[in-house]
Amino acid sequence: MTVMLGLRGVTLAKAVTRYGRLLTRAFTSSYPKPYTVPEGPWGTNRAARLELAAAYRGLDHLGMNEGVVNHLSVMAPRADGGDGKVMLVFPQGIHWQEVTASNLVGIDSEAKTVEGEGSPETTASCIHLSIHKMRAGTKVVMHCHPPYTTALASLEDFELRMVSQNSLRYWNRVAYDRCYQGVAYAFEEGERMARILGDKDILMLANHGAITVASTVSAAFHNLYFLERAAMVQMLGMATGNKMVEVPEEVKRSMSTPYLKKEQTYADDFFYSIYRLMQKYQPDFEN
Ligand SMILES: [Zn+2]
Repeated sequence: MTVMLGLRGVTLAKAVTRYGRLLTRAFTSSYPKPYTVPEGPWGTNRAARLELAAAYRGLDHLGMNEGVVNHLSVMAPRADGGDGKVMLVFPQGIHWQEVTASNLVGIDSEAKTVEGEGSPETTASCIHLSIHKMRAGTKVVMHCHPPYTTALASLEDFELRMVSQNSLRYWNRVAYDRCYQGVAYAFEEGERMARILGDKDILMLANHGAITVASTVSAAFHNLYFLERAAMVQMLGMATGNKMVEVPEEVKRSMSTPYLKKEQTYADDFFYSIYRLMQKYQPDFEN
């Protein structure tokens, strides 16, 4: 296939040769963020609300949500500039397509609502608050039950296999909770999950789903989406009954560091593209 770049009609191969440095710079740069907020606690809180609302809408758009009890959360400064932080999360009883920046609730470390109306579903508080408390540096926790990830997590052997480019990005970054304990109605269950997660970025939950954690909304969003894509490739490949080919160890190692250096850029590019889609098709999320 010949790819035209609009560079006076040259082909991709010729353009790489002729404009190699230019192409590289363009590839590694991101579009500006699709919103602006003022400096200070209110602005930082508002930015977190905008991004979290876009994440709810975007992941629902991508088929990652189930029902109304999957949850995404972000830690943010209190909008009123008060002491401590709030965990922003959606209130119980609404659909992800109804989430807006302003109807997200902020709860304190005791799960008491201090911003907005309503309160989160119990398991949201138990899982998310526990991970935010126990995992240093985490600002964002995303938990859902996407179909391929959850199907994989229901298998006796549910390790993510290094059989595709999508899964390679998670090499040595996944923890496995192999002991499903029922619906997480207690903080102790969230704390147990947080201990198993440790310093990994992803927790696969047996018989349940998955959790991603990150310091940015875009990174958690990106990792949750591509985890599902990696699980899809693995499940579809396994369903053929043919043997899947593991990527050699040296390739895993050689890819890991260069990829991780670029991951935040990839994550920003993907998440903010979805953000712009939501601005176009579901603009009320910014209300
Ligand atoms: Zn769940």
